[in-house]
Amino acid sequence: MSFQLIQLEKNQVNVTCPYCQQDVLDWSQEQYIQPCAHTLFIAMDLGFEYISDAYEATMQRTVDEIHAHDDDSINIWHEISQSTFPDYVIYQADLGVEGMYRYIGLTAKAID
Ligand SMILES: [Zn+2]
Repeated sequence: MSFQLIQLEKNQVNVTCPYCQQDVLDWSQEQYIQPCAHTLFIAMDLGFEYISDAYEATMQRTVDEIHAHDDDSINIWHEISQSTFPDYVIYQADLGVEGMYRYIGLTAKAID
């Protein structure tokens, strides 16, 4: 794995892409997930909310395969850590529920 993990302090705050300044999590929008060209994925411990083709291609299993086994054994962190995508950052945001997080993967080089 070749990512840098950055832990965000508060839950329910907008998350801004450091490369294009777009709010990729924007709570003022009804559709609060707003992926930009640098967004590799947005996931919670319960499953993926968004994934780019470029990132999915580097994972051991597809999101469909992961979600097909959608039960207590789903482990998003494990799936992410198996990716071979080079050089990216993951923002980890506390969901306000004990032990539950949202993960947002961002890469400096636009993928679209
Ligand atoms: Zn961006």
